[in-house]
Amino acid sequence: MTDATGRPDTGERHLSSREMRAAGVSKSYGATVALEHADIALKAGEVHALLGENGAGKSTLVRIFTGAVIPDRGEMRLHGEIYAPRSIIEARKREVATAFQELSLVPNLSVAQNFLLPALAGRGSPLISHRHVLARGAEILERHGLTRIDPAARIGDLPLAERQRIEIARAIENAGRVLILDEPTASLAETDWLFEQIGKARARGVAILYISHRLAEVREICSSATVLRNGRSIGTVGLASASDGDIFEMMVGHRVEHARRPARAVDAARTPRLAVENLAGHGLRGVSLHLGAGEILGVAALEGQGQRGLFRLLAGLETPAGGVIRVDGKLAAYRNPRAALRCGSGISYLPEERKTEGILAGLSAATNVVLPLLPRVGRAGFIGRRDEEKAAQPSADQVALNPRYLGFAIGDLSGGNQQKALMARTLATGARTLLLFDPTRGVDVGTKESIYAAIRAFAERGGSVLFYSSELPEIVQLADRCLVLYGGQVFRELQGDDIAEQTLVAAMIGHDPCAPAARAPAPFATPAHAVAENAR
Ligand code: ADP
Repeated sequence: MTDATGRPDTGERHLSSREMRAAGVSKSYGATVALEHADIALKAGEVHALLGENGAGKSTLVRIFTGAVIPDRGEMRLHGEIYAPRSIIEARKREVATAFQELSLVPNLSVAQNFLLPALAGRGSPLISHRHVLARGAEILERHGLTRIDPAARIGDLPLAERQRIEIARAIENAGRVLILDEPTASLAETDWLFEQIGKARARGVAILYISHRLAEVREICSSATVLRNGRSIGTVGLASASDGDIFEMMVGHRVEHARRPARAVDAARTPRLAVENLAGHGLRGVSLHLGAGEILGVAALEGQGQRGLFRLLAGLETPAGGVIRVDGKLAAYRNPRAALRCGSGISYLPEERKTEGILAGLSAATNVVLPLLPRVGRAGFIGRRDEEKAAQPSADQVALNPRYLGFAIGDLSGGNQQKALMARTLATGARTLLLFDPTRGVDVGTKESIYAAIRAFAERGGSVLFYSSELPEIVQLADRCLVLYGGQVFRELQGDDIAEQTLVAAMIGHDPCAPAARAPAPFATPAHAVAENAR
């Protein structure tokens, strides 16, 4: 741990004083200790990661830095002076600004108006002309490489990825000294734009705190990291010298095993649960696959190679332009997810975008879990809260979702617990085939392990799983077989020990070691396809 309680007055004083430092910061909510004597130091011109499982205290620390939560104890200093903001506005006056994961933009106002909040509200809008606001907005958009966005557009009308970019650009505008980015890539398909903006802020000497669950991304942009566990800062490491294993160990307190699941022999003579021939449309150019009972089939691909289309077609959300789907050996022509669930032994889909496609934020976690069962659970159309929680419990147990969360509004739970609840819902349907699209995207390692355990247990019980993952280690750990999609086709199929990160990466970029280079199929020519898919 870096020393956090005041260092000797050395010749470095001038430099080291250009930092944000928190020492012994503690915060409890009743009996829950959210932060206990946490220490962290953010240096000017450095990108520092904050890592930790769900519930480790990251958001609490961010809220304290932002002035939204007042700590019970501890001291913070900014550029050597006491820093104790009592509101987001006070923090901003000290040039500390945050891009929130949940986005703090006002949906009914324009892009430009959002940029100028709270100044706009404070001074009274009549004094600032509409034209002036738009001009300022356009300037800010230009500064952040976002000229394609109309400054007059209403925030609520923009796709999620654009809203996230605006949230980030606004924070950067206000962050003269400290910029806090809370899961900034949660809705961004690629990191180029973000990393460029971070690079510019860093060059200006801004200290940047970067919160993300994606370690590869953290390694790319951050030089050091502080790990929180159970509200305590476990340590600060230089990322160049710490292995992923070291970091996971600090996060969870024990080594995380990355053993591959023993390869399973699938009975080739048995009718596959799911058999697809020449499926086309929605980014696919003739995909065939089969999935047996008890099998976990992974899909790996770079962004925009047809994976979304494949899952949405199989889930009944889109209609194929060609090809055949067989479920339990019978031709299937379902046209929506409910019909997919009723087709043969059932197909259940875990969508990619939990906030917009998955959860009903205002309803309890239990209601969200039992949603597909409602006609079965309720008596004469009425279902009590207790019945719901009882019905949700077995699936919640499978994903290690703490039963105390079942009664809470799902929107109030952490992202990890929301994802566990959605996975529990997918299992609760009783379907024998699960389609999981990036099932652990953006969740912490502890939640990942619980979801992996649930997937493995489901396959052990004879269930079939088709999953796509944007994280290769996940495919290596889980998949019995793996299909690599490239340009809307299955480019390679890998089995057993061939499912290794290097082999996967080579196949994902269209490299086939056994074929002359010329044989590689053309990928989709422009990333526009990927962008369009992600902008949904
Ligand atoms: P993280 O962001 O790392 O997931 P949090 O800072 O959100 O962690 O939470 C740390 C702990 O504090 C958790 O146990 C959480 O339930 C608790 N907590 C956070 N905010 C509140 C609150 N407003 N009321 C009660 N408990 C809270």
